[in-house]
Amino acid sequence: MIRIFFKLFFLFLGGYVLYLIYKILTEPVHRETQNKNKKEVIKGELVKDPVCGVYLPKEQAIKLEYKGQTYYFCSEECKTKFLEESSR
Ligand SMILES: [Zn+2]
Repeated sequence: MIRIFFKLFFLFLGGYVLYLIYKILTEPVHRETQNKNKKEVIKGELVKDPVCGVYLPKEQAIKLEYKGQTYYFCSEECKTKFLEESSR
């Protein structure tokens, strides 16, 4: 009876060790994908629309250079609003 118990115990231990090895081998892969996602987030830089206060990706924003400064807008409407307000 005791022998069977030890056999089962070592089988369980072996399985646990294999599980740990598997976990260690697969973990760096997960870390790499997480880093990739972070890089993409940094790539898509967010800019603030000064008119409506909305944050949007720089690539999608409407760019306006005004009095030596660069402004970004979510739409043409906001851009014209900004120009109207600042020309007052
Ligand atoms: Zn806007």
